[in-house]
Amino acid sequence: MAQDIRAQDIRKVGVIGAGQMGSGIAHVCALAGFDVKLHDVSADRVKQALATINGNMARQVAKKAITEEQRQAGLAKIAPADAMDALADVDLVIESAVEKEDIKKKIYADLCPVLRPEAILATNTSSLSITRLAAATDRPEKFIGIHFMNPVPLMELVEIIRGIATDDQTFETSKAFVGKLHKTVAMAEDFPAFIVNRILLPMINEAIYTLYEGVGTVEAIDTAMKLGAHHPMGPLELADFIGLDTCLSVMQVLHEGLADTKYRPCPLLVKYVEAGWLGRKTQRGFYDYRGEKPVPTR
Ligand code: NAD
Repeated sequence: MAQDIRAQDIRKVGVIGAGQMGSGIAHVCALAGFDVKLHDVSADRVKQALATINGNMARQVAKKAITEEQRQAGLAKIAPADAMDALADVDLVIESAVEKEDIKKKIYADLCPVLRPEAILATNTSSLSITRLAAATDRPEKFIGIHFMNPVPLMELVEIIRGIATDDQTFETSKAFVGKLHKTVAMAEDFPAFIVNRILLPMINEAIYTLYEGVGTVEAIDTAMKLGAHHPMGPLELADFIGLDTCLSVMQVLHEGLADTKYRPCPLLVKYVEAGWLGRKTQRGFYDYRGEKPVPTR
């Protein structure tokens, strides 16, 4: 049997997927002193991620959150990994590739044969079953969900999700590792959308129903929740920030996974996604971002 990896043994971390989340994960791991190998199916995405990390660390220096020396040391810790083979000596891999089960499973099939048998394999999935993903690997007992929040460098929370087979040492090591990133752990069971999205997305969906049924306008709903519930962002503004396609897919996972009509995605959310109005990333969602300031689209 492969030996257990303890938190103090973790020096090298592999990150697979250099998108929004993967670049943030590489960023925080490097600043915490881990050697990071960043892999993506697209070498261009890795290049872009390194530029993003550089820019975000520079912003942290400007805000005096880190020093220039920490920025330099952090950047020097991240190396691009062109091929999967480059991850052969890492102690922990955090897979943060696109949210597609077949792609994640293919990555594990290519990765596991090159990975050390004792290495921990974690996924940053927002919605897929940890137990099912684990079953597709050669190490279900060393497989775990380490779910970061967006944007990773700013958000304090990380959810940790054990699959049915995850062993105690993998769980303890993962918890201690997250502590070294100066984040707080919330432990969630392996049920659809875990804790944060299970609570947050139905609230956003309800805000969209409130708009759909004409209870309030976009502005009234966002103002109500900002001033009436002290939320830093209104729910519709937040939906645009998250991406309406992402909001819809989390609601679908909840609806299908828990088979309860209370998770029915609002038809208006479906309409916006059909229109390609996905929020900030496409410049239009519940607000239009093309002008100087956001204007409600309804
Ligand atoms: P993204 O689209 O920004 O990045 C995904 C990256 O995966 C891309 O760079 C893509 O090139 C890469 N990729 C695709 N196929 C690959 C392969 N076969 N091998 C290696 N890389 C591959 O997506 P993201 O928002 O960074 O999400 C990544 C993961 O993080 C998903 O599982 C998502 O559910 C999860 N997540 C997202 C958020 C969020 O708010 N966006 C929050 C928490 C968790």
